[in-house]
Amino acid sequence: MSSENNFSGKVALVTGGGSGIGRAVCQVLARDGARVSVCDLNVKSAEETVESLKNPGDHIALCMDVSQKEQVHDGLRITQEKLKGTPTLLVNCAGIVRPAPFLEMTEERFMQVINVNLKGTFLVSQAVCKAMLERNEAKGGAVVNIASITGRTGLANNGQYAASKGGVMAFTKTCAKELAQTGIRVNCLMPGPIRTPLLAFPQEIIDEFVLKRNPLGRCGEPEEVAEMAAFLLSEKSSYFVGSCIEVTGGHDM
Ligand code: NAP
Repeated sequence: MSSENNFSGKVALVTGGGSGIGRAVCQVLARDGARVSVCDLNVKSAEETVESLKNPGDHIALCMDVSQKEQVHDGLRITQEKLKGTPTLLVNCAGIVRPAPFLEMTEERFMQVINVNLKGTFLVSQAVCKAMLERNEAKGGAVVNIASITGRTGLANNGQYAASKGGVMAFTKTCAKELAQTGIRVNCLMPGPIRTPLLAFPQEIIDEFVLKRNPLGRCGEPEEVAEMAAFLLSEKSSYFVGSCIEVTGGHDM
């Protein structure tokens, strides 16, 4: 799959860029001309992503825990300094799962997931969108949040994960309403099962709970999500505001 987005001259910031969907997003954005700040909790995996990008010298790898406000602000400042520009393309991809039946879920486990998936999306979005506005670069700005189909359907044994993703969808629509007049468009994707380390369950679990419920009978590839994220960041999607788009292979229609 390929597309012809024109991101040349643009700076992109991608959280969770060291693995899976985030890495594929970085690869597509770099392929289409963006300079990418690859942010991840794990800086080594972010560095590996940078090495995999077109023109690796144009991009940077940063350690950023999206749930920590100071790290988010430091990461943004370093991005602006090193890439000589403010990110006007943002993809909030960092996310974790911590399964537990809700009757046994501890408060700590509940908040761990909310802090990364939902609060992290808030902290990074606020910092980057404020920077765009302060520098008069909001026009043409775009944010894509990676939610999940489970934000609509729920997911047994992952109540806090599904709730965090439902929260990301509502947050996306709210930001979209507040920012549309500034020129920043905010949208989100609801992937179904995608073949990444996050979905590293035993094959029998994948067969039973994923493939049997999927009309295509397969997991999606990270690139199949990344191309849609790039579309939502590009001017081709100029009339998409607050959209939550399924990328599921028909899973849980
Ligand atoms: P992944 O391969 O595990 O990638 C997630 C990345 O985020 C990892 O590099 C991870 O680092 C990083 N990360 C974790 N906590 C972080 C934090 N606090 N700050 C910054 N980075 C952090 O997972 P993925 O499947 O690509 O998931 C990407 C997004 O898609 C997530 O939001 C996920 O919920 C969503 N999604 C995935 C699927 C799926 O089936 N794969 C379906 C629907 C939605 P570590 O490896 O060090 O933890």
